[in-house]
This record gives sequence, C-alpha cells and structure tokens, in this order.
Amino acid sequence: MRLLILLFLLLPVCSPATDSPIGLAGLIKEALSVAPEIKPGQVVILSSESALLPYLRSWGYSRAVASQTLQEVRSLAEFTIDHHFPIFVNASSVHVQRIVRSWTHGAFPGQAARVMASDLYHEYLHAQYAAGECAALEGQLNLLTRWRDQGILTIAEPYIATKQSALLKECQ
Ligand SMILES: [Zn+2]
Repeated sequence: MRLLILLFLLLPVCSPATDSPIGLAGLIKEALSVAPEIKPGQVVILSSESALLPYLRSWGYSRAVASQTLQEVRSLAEFTIDHHFPIFVNASSVHVQRIVRSWTHGAFPGQAARVMASDLYHEYLHAQYAAGECAALEGQLNLLTRWRDQGILTIAEPYIATKQSALLKECQ
C-alpha cells in the first residue's frame, strides 16, 4: 500500500517531458494574463532542448556554437539568447515542471501562475530593455514582493528569499 501511494505521488515527477507542454501552455496563458507587458508571441515553449536548434541555426550560429549553447541552456528554466526575444521556456527543466505541478495539482493554481509570470517578466526585462542580471532580478523581486504585500501571493516566500539572496550575492 505504501509503495502504491509513493508511486502515485511520484508519477507526475516521472512523466516524460513531452507530456508537460499541455499543462504548461495553460499555465503560461494564465501567467501572461497577470503580466500584460509580455505578448503571447514572445514566449516559446521548448518541449525538448533540441527544439532550440532551428532557432540558433536560423540566427546564423555555427553547428559547434549552437551545440555548445544547447549545453549551456540545458539546466535553465527560462532564458533568452543574447537578450533578444523570444523568451524560451524549457518544459523539461525541474523548476518549470515544479511550477506546472503546482498549477495542475496545487491548492493555489493562480499563485503558481504568478510565480511563472515573475520568471517570464525577468526574461522580458532582458529581452525588452537589455537589462543585466541584477536589474532583471530586481524587477522580478519588485513584482513578487508587490503581489505578496497585496496578499495575492502567499506561497512564494521561499522563492522570494532565494531571489533576494541571489541579488545580495551577485549584485553588491
Ligand atoms: Zn536573468
């Protein structure tokens, strides 16, 4: 019995990455509804890391540089290339899958969407204003803490703390 329960709990974690874009598309749609600066066409879901390759090739990246770039972004949840649109969302990343689970199975799906919105907003600042990492972190934190202070984001305290310590560490 215990094993069965464990298996049940583990299923969403183990489901293949290709299953997640369905939930992820809905999550991003809701995230964009609370981050109206970002246009839907500016966000691209990558169902696998190789899905980035056609973009890199179309931007003139050599095969070698493109495959090195694939390696570099493999662990990233959301990212931009050279601070340009689109914002890529890596469906198979641990962080994105965690937010998707919170969105599909959690008690506060709308709040999960706000966490995703803050991530997308961070990338938007890179792409729209060529913001450096510190400015993007600061903008994301302002959004997160504003929603927290308004009482509409109660589940993100650990995430806010992580971002605050990243800001302190990297942006003195
Ligand atoms: Zn960044």
